[in-house]
Amino acid sequence: MIAKNILNQLIQQLGKENVVSTEEDLLVLGYDATPGLHHAPDVVVYPTSTEAVQAAMQIAREEKLPITPRGSGSGLSGGSIPVKGGMVICLNRMNKILEIDEENLTVTAEAGTITLDMAEAVAAKGLFYPPDPASQKISTIGGNVMEDAGGLRCLKYGVTGDYVMALKCVLPDGTIIFTGGKNVKDVAGYSFKDLLISSEGTLAIITEITFRLIPPPQTRQTLLAYFDDIKTAGKAVSEIIAAKIIPSTMEIMDKTTINCVEDYVAIGLPRNIAALLLIEVDGHPAVVAEESAGIQEVLKQVKATEFHIAANDEEALELATARRFALSAMARVSPSTLMEDATVPRSCMSQTFAEIEQLAKKYNLTVGTFGHAGDGNLHPTVLCDERDADQMKRAHAFFDDLYTKVLEWGGTVSGEHGIGLAKKDYLARQVGPGGIAVMKRIKNAFDPDGILNPGKIFFDDQES
Ligand SMILES: Cc1cc2nc3c(=O)[nH]c(=O)nc-3n(C[C@H](O)[C@H](O)[C@H](O)COP(=O)(O)OP(=O)(O)OC[C@H]3O[C@@H](n4cnc5c(N)ncnc54)[C@H](O)[C@@H]3O)c2cc1C
Repeated sequence: MIAKNILNQLIQQLGKENVVSTEEDLLVLGYDATPGLHHAPDVVVYPTSTEAVQAAMQIAREEKLPITPRGSGSGLSGGSIPVKGGMVICLNRMNKILEIDEENLTVTAEAGTITLDMAEAVAAKGLFYPPDPASQKISTIGGNVMEDAGGLRCLKYGVTGDYVMALKCVLPDGTIIFTGGKNVKDVAGYSFKDLLISSEGTLAIITEITFRLIPPPQTRQTLLAYFDDIKTAGKAVSEIIAAKIIPSTMEIMDKTTINCVEDYVAIGLPRNIAALLLIEVDGHPAVVAEESAGIQEVLKQVKATEFHIAANDEEALELATARRFALSAMARVSPSTLMEDATVPRSCMSQTFAEIEQLAKKYNLTVGTFGHAGDGNLHPTVLCDERDADQMKRAHAFFDDLYTKVLEWGGTVSGEHGIGLAKKDYLARQVGPGGIAVMKRIKNAFDPDGILNPGKIFFDDQES
């Protein structure tokens, strides 16, 4: 429970309506979207300006309260769970789009702005913000930067971090800094913005972000390909890339995922196939036609069961939306979903699918796999029940074995969801003691008292 004098200071600085300490609110804000993880904070504040963030952080520092930054809490690795209690600073009332600069092709917005709201605002000006996490309707841009979120279009256009030009943030000691700017080139001093991208709220709290924008593609075409063996779908992905074609989107769904999605949205996906690929090409009409023909040639060569071009924009949108529903669709049919974020070099797609199939059999688990196949970024998802201890043990053993292979093949333990609380062990395996030691030195330089998002990314000295 938060001491009365701290609560009074917070109310005085931020306003009564922006400070929450009732049991029900605290309970809810102890979760993100990661199953099996919860810890309630002692108090939650909703700043409405950078100065209010600074004031809250100063109070926390003086009172030695741990601080956990939070956007929408849609994270999938436990990053916004206040595992040491203390204060949650929730940015979602800082949601103004401050400027769309059509001369410099940039947008500047507060960190709590919802991703899709910003993308739609720039689209209304004839501009394009490509990063499109499947959670774009709920996630904040601050959370996106802190996890370096990917999305369906990231194969061709890159991830959130590739669009960050400048950040305004508050450091744990209360200093407000700007890093970056609207300059296309900038090598003045250390690039703090690049250090802050994907730092999972452990180094600073971001309050404003400037992103670069690009002109939208002139035209798009969506192809849908069906396979009666998921390894063939994996081969198709590798072959399309090897043919030097980079679609904007190349997403996969396996049979379990297709059936869950079809149960949810009923758009007529075939239930008896082993996997489908959803492929989008975009750009100049001549390029789109050439790339589409190249992809169809590969699909014929690898013997896809069937493929067709979406009849119109409505069908293309329906298919992309169905793919975005994959996780929610699986969550409807299973009490718990344990999802991972394994990413491998794209040449290893087929063998990764084979490994997932073999391990699912070994541990007697139902696993649905979907993801950003073109990025080599897969989300094998165990349909399970948190209350079944034996099943959870088998699910963790499944991922343990899978990550051993992923690391052997030069992959990574997280393509986009971050390390947070859930994957500290795996990160230690990937980067080794030297890598962890350097990260701890960086953390210490920003946050010598260790008050900002403690317990995340790597084990505390007491834990290790
Ligand atoms: C159905 C579903 C689909 C998803 N699809 C994708 C996908 O396609 N691609 C993808 O990459 N992710 C996806 N995610 C994961 C998640 O949506 C992203 O990680 C997203 O970027 C998190 O944003 P958020 O605002 O919810 O952040 P939170 O979950 O609130 O926070 C995430 C991390 O950032 C920190 N943080 C948040 N805001 C700030 C700030 N302003 N300053 C400092 N630190 C901050 C938090 O402390 C935490 O460590 C999905 C999640 C769900 C539930």
